Amino acid sequence: MHCKKKRRELLIFAGYPEDYTNVKYHCSDCEDTGFTQFGECDCLKRELARITIESSGIGGLVTEQSFENFDLKYYATSQKEYESMKKNLDFLKTYVEKFNDSTSTSLLFVGATGLGKTHLSTAMATGIIYKGYDVIYDTAQNILSDFEDERFRKDNLNESKGYLTKKYFTCDLLIIDDLGTELTNTFTLSVLYNLINTRVNSKKPMIISTNLMSKELNQRYDQRITSRLLGAFEPILFHGKDIRMQKLN
Ligand SMILES: [Zn+2]
Repeated sequence: MHCKKKRRELLIFAGYPEDYTNVKYHCSDCEDTGFTQFGECDCLKRELARITIESSGIGGLVTEQSFENFDLKYYATSQKEYESMKKNLDFLKTYVEKFNDSTSTSLLFVGATGLGKTHLSTAMATGIIYKGYDVIYDTAQNILSDFEDERFRKDNLNESKGYLTKKYFTCDLLIIDDLGTELTNTFTLSVLYNLINTRVNSKKPMIISTNLMSKELNQRYDQRITSRLLGAFEPILFHGKDIRMQKLN
């Protein structure tokens, strides 16, 4: 009580309104306006990033999977694996730092399940979203079913073509997880080729991860797709022992 009175007196004495210290902004940099003299405040950028993350498809994975909690100890089963993974990690961190939506190269993550492909692609998505880019992240299966819905649904004849799938062509970075686990048919193969080819031609980066090695890719996809994947993407190889199995032991 005494203390409060004293503070009020001091504030008035110093020429401030007596409730001056009661004003609590969430962000003191911009006083919650979202803008400072330098433009958009960091708090606004963070809020926009949060919204982008929610709509990007990574959602709940974000807090769990980051570069910070990517643990190289699971690759220490051999010196060679450890070093190769450390090199990947450094390369991918730099990729995020220098990301540019028209000059960054597309990446193909290749390796068996449980070796951190999803973890690292999620970490990258988050990092790149925080830089202000528009990132879409989903499995091949989900992406292709959007194309199928759009193609085969009868009730949307009046809706503009591409309302579900345009984002896959236009986003700054498209991350396709688990290529090779989707159901394939003539339609999905032609969609996949069109999507990959269109983005490659317009120099829009993608990160595609797959459990399939090049021989299996060749068996599963026609040559137009594999020559794109093997020719226009930089391969990032994941070696090691299944991390989920290691954690169980
Ligand atoms: Zn602010």
